[in-house]
Amino acid sequence: MLANKTAVVTGSTSGIGLACARAFAEEGANVVINGLGDADEIEATRAAIENDFGVRCIYSAANMLKPDEIATMIQNAENELGSVDILVNNAGIQHVSPVDEFPIDKWDAIIAINLTSAFHSTRAALPGMKKRGWGRIINTASAHALVASPYKAAYVAAKHGIAGLTKTVALEVAEQGITVNAICPAYVWTPLVEKQIPDTAKARGITEEEVKRDVLLKAQPTKKFVTVEQVAGFAVFLCTDTASSITGSILPIDAGWTAQ
Ligand code: NAD
Repeated sequence: MLANKTAVVTGSTSGIGLACARAFAEEGANVVINGLGDADEIEATRAAIENDFGVRCIYSAANMLKPDEIATMIQNAENELGSVDILVNNAGIQHVSPVDEFPIDKWDAIIAINLTSAFHSTRAALPGMKKRGWGRIINTASAHALVASPYKAAYVAAKHGIAGLTKTVALEVAEQGITVNAICPAYVWTPLVEKQIPDTAKARGITEEEVKRDVLLKAQPTKKFVTVEQVAGFAVFLCTDTASSITGSILPIDAGWTAQ
């Protein structure tokens, strides 16, 4: 379905991004993976995508804190793979702390990685998409683009911000064959969630087991974590022709969270 297309997925060395990169490759797209991590592990991840799906996969080490590296990532993808047809702005980090104790550097990094990086990559990728008259931009937002939770001021602000960016860009390119959507998962079991459990326990004065049961899954009526495969499958659907009228939408995959 996606043969002859190229997908760039930021933050795809683990978690949701990696599942998206693999799902696009399974549909025949060439992919650019990006993110932090151990060089040997990243190379193994990259090679596995090529071997498993018979597509080209290149790695970009672009740091989502650095606008020039983001622009270069898009430029290199166009030069080496011919185009950027699908862009998934997915890189993200979290920090959990009461707002009056929230470290300023953490606020700045979360806004830069979870929100501003999507502006830079979108800005760089759109001219090529416009020229070809086809594009898909998928921003990994969160249920926290729709509702808030305490102690996550920067994350919730960034995710609400990306919802606004999504709607604005969707309107700007609506007549040009390009859709722009935000996908909003509830809790997905990935390193990002695992790492916030100790700080959440500290901020709320409860045990780590209680965090899982009484904080994370409390919000999810299904009482199950969303899986990375479910999120990736939805991202692939947004790249089909069937989904071409879905644009500017903030789309929950939230196990019933925001129905409450
Ligand atoms: P993850 O920690 O598994 O993956 C995050 C990715 O971002 C990694 O590849 C990491 O290397 C990359 N990254 C972090 N900082 C970076 C930087 N400066 N430059 C480049 N890459 C960087 O987490 P995940 O849960 O898969 O999260 C992916 C996205 O999904 C995030 O935007 C997150 O906010 C969102 N999300 C996650 C959940 C969840 O419950 N896991 C729920 C809703 C939304």
